[in-house]
Amino acid sequence: MSVERRLPQWLKRRIGSGETFGHTARMVSDLGLETICTNANCPNRGECWGRGTATVLILGNVCTRNCRFCSVGTGRPLPPDADEPRRVAELARQLKLKYLVITSVDRDDLADGGAGHFRDVITRCRQEVEGLQFELLVPDFRDSQDDSIAILTDALPFVFGHNVETAPSQYARVRPGGDYGRSLRLLAKAKVAWPDVQTKSSIMLGLGEREEEVVQVLTDLRGVGCDRVAMGQYLRPSKESVEVAEYVTPERFAWWAEKAKSLGFSWVMASPFTRSSFHAEQDVT
Ligand code: SF4
Repeated sequence: MSVERRLPQWLKRRIGSGETFGHTARMVSDLGLETICTNANCPNRGECWGRGTATVLILGNVCTRNCRFCSVGTGRPLPPDADEPRRVAELARQLKLKYLVITSVDRDDLADGGAGHFRDVITRCRQEVEGLQFELLVPDFRDSQDDSIAILTDALPFVFGHNVETAPSQYARVRPGGDYGRSLRLLAKAKVAWPDVQTKSSIMLGLGEREEEVVQVLTDLRGVGCDRVAMGQYLRPSKESVEVAEYVTPERFAWWAEKAKSLGFSWVMASPFTRSSFHAEQDVT
């Protein structure tokens, strides 16, 4: 029997409801914004939206890549929406956010990989919401890493995140458009360019990776100066996505948290429901 048919008790989650959840959902919808929360079928939506937070997905919900762990659709995206920075700022204002996580699909069709649009969103938000802190979760900016980093220098976030997602042995199967070395290079370049900006990455467990490979990924991340790491259980977001290979217990995640801390990460979150943006504003060190 597939491991997925036996969803462990610790992975049962309430669906969202309540006043704040409804308010968040209305704001996102009224402003015509996308979130990774809905596009990735994130299991934490009830909790995050119920707390009045969401992770905004800019640059559309059509991706130029085809990762097999992700439910975001692949195709030819539309050009960046010049009005989107205003609407994101309005969401931050309406939700009274102090910390905003912004991510995007891969935009290999754009010469700067979308970096200019990230910059424009941050700049507009800063004009309208005083004191707002930003965490970016960006694609790997394939052939434009240096240019994209130069562009983002005009609007530095508090945290610059890029997810390696899994061990390199799994890339061909689940992240065919990705390149582990390229992802590490982006984090390394960001750290060199902006030593005061926290860099962050995430790893999903349960895709078939071996534990020693995960230790190596953590070691590689520390090797490029990555400050923060998030580790969570892979859950299949759609029928087209790859199956779960293993459910990692909460106790094992606690072990991983200690392991990551022992390797020198200053911020660690590791639990079955951890996602890169989950409680991102929380300082857990
Ligand atoms: S963990 Fe991130 S993607 Fe998931 S609901 Fe929370 S903010 Fe959205």
